[in-house]
Amino acid sequence: MKRKKIYFLIMILLMILSFVFIYDKYFPIISLNDINLRDKLSIWILTIILITIYIFSKDKPQLMPSVLANEKDNNQNKDRSNISFNDVAGLEEIKEELQETIDFINNSYKYRKMGAKIPKGILFYGPPGTGKTLLAKAVAGETNSTFLYASGSEFVEKYVGVGAKRVRTLFEKAKKEAPSIIFIDEIDAIGTKRNLDSNNEKDQTLNQLLVEMDGFNTDDTVIIIGATNRLDLLDEALLRPGRFDRHIFVGNPNMHAREKILEVHTKNKPLDKSIDIKEIAKKTHGLSGADLANIANEAAIIAVRHNKNKINIEHFDAAIERVLAGLKVKNPTVLLKEKQTVAIHEAGHAIVSKILNTDMVQKISIIPRGKALGYVLKFPEEDRYLFTERELMNKIVALLAGRAAEELIFNEITTGAKDDLDKATHIASEMVCSYGMSGLGPMALDENYIRHNFNLIRVEIKKILEKAYENAMKILYENKDLLNYIAGELLEKETIDSKRLDEIFENHEKPLDCAT
Ligand code: ATP
Repeated sequence: MKRKKIYFLIMILLMILSFVFIYDKYFPIISLNDINLRDKLSIWILTIILITIYIFSKDKPQLMPSVLANEKDNNQNKDRSNISFNDVAGLEEIKEELQETIDFINNSYKYRKMGAKIPKGILFYGPPGTGKTLLAKAVAGETNSTFLYASGSEFVEKYVGVGAKRVRTLFEKAKKEAPSIIFIDEIDAIGTKRNLDSNNEKDQTLNQLLVEMDGFNTDDTVIIIGATNRLDLLDEALLRPGRFDRHIFVGNPNMHAREKILEVHTKNKPLDKSIDIKEIAKKTHGLSGADLANIANEAAIIAVRHNKNKINIEHFDAAIERVLAGLKVKNPTVLLKEKQTVAIHEAGHAIVSKILNTDMVQKISIIPRGKALGYVLKFPEEDRYLFTERELMNKIVALLAGRAAEELIFNEITTGAKDDLDKATHIASEMVCSYGMSGLGPMALDENYIRHNFNLIRVEIKKILEKAYENAMKILYENKDLLNYIAGELLEKETIDSKRLDEIFENHEKPLDCAT
């Protein structure tokens, strides 16, 4: 877009220059013969330069509305990908799985000779920012195929038939440009179950996609890769063999993958000796590849802001905080009473998290960031895949400890616990509905059961939350001095890091874990 504008500006500038040149010199022009040969040549050269710039600019200035332009030419989305598997860190098992597809495109005769059919459709599913688009581009890069990108929402139109026509055009293009990879991001925008959301235009678009996927013959080296965050919403017809029959989960990276991703994104950045990528990987539990790329970039920006020529660990810590907790609020106008409440609230979270050992507390702060007036930065010591009932319960206790601390000290509760309540309720409902960890017994509850027994389920969720709240209150009551001490120091210094928190805990009487 930027390049387009620059070309356009250059063209206009050159036109003005040539006009001024001619006007200045020959006005009023009586006859063309008045212009001498040298100047005629200059005008010709200028004109040729203008035409050459126009012809060779990839993004010609568009003189028609973008929707129409899209209809006319899908070239905008066409590309040769220069991304390879080396740019995709971690995700080794997925790269291995995709090797076969790559081999098919690169050596298709081998498979055809055997009468083997290549899987036409691959579906990546998983949380946002985990590298689904990157993987698709890497497949295109590894096979030197044309990469045709489309987002599901581009096909969603008000007028019946427009979406279907776009699908047809995209597939025609892919066949013409074969070998090619069609990547449809957010495929759920067109591929949701038809009975759930009946919409004539959407149904037609989905039908066209199904028809196009069936319409390939084995000679077309065209692979369709779809990506979605919600596999459960997709229409069965889209997932059946012969269409998107390979489903690959792309999840948030584990510790090892985070380290590799950080390595890729710091490769071209000057790092200080103080940086240990493994330590940064530890502190970024639960973050996606996109978050990690963002952190590496933020750290570089912070280093520039501080006039440093190397990125050090403080820059990384600030970048992690920026991504996890949001932007620091400049000149916050928080009342003293509110500050006191926030200090007690955050101290409550930190004390209970530490005593129950739910997570490593890295920092407590009452400096407002994003929408939060304060926060506790914490992360688990290692990647975990299984949680015991007690561990889940302890997570809820730590989440409710902020509200409990407010009630214990001020005998009053505030709106500050909204986010904590959401998270605690979510864990409690999962315990009841998915993990069979409630009085309802060891069963997973389906949608139908939940709809008809909503009150029963609500009672069970409430029991879990109330028990957790009681435990939080008990722990804080037994450690009230510690709570007041930490809140006091927070009010004075605004932040407490993990080292100082350990010191406070050591210097205090041994805190009591009285959770039951
Ligand atoms: P969404 O579901 O939101 O479309 P996505 O899963 O398609 O997200 P990508 O667009 O592929 O995510 O990733 C965003 C960015 O995150 C990439 O451009 C890259 O910089 C970084 N990234 C994500 N995963 C990885 C990875 N495994 N290795 C290197 N970089 C990664």
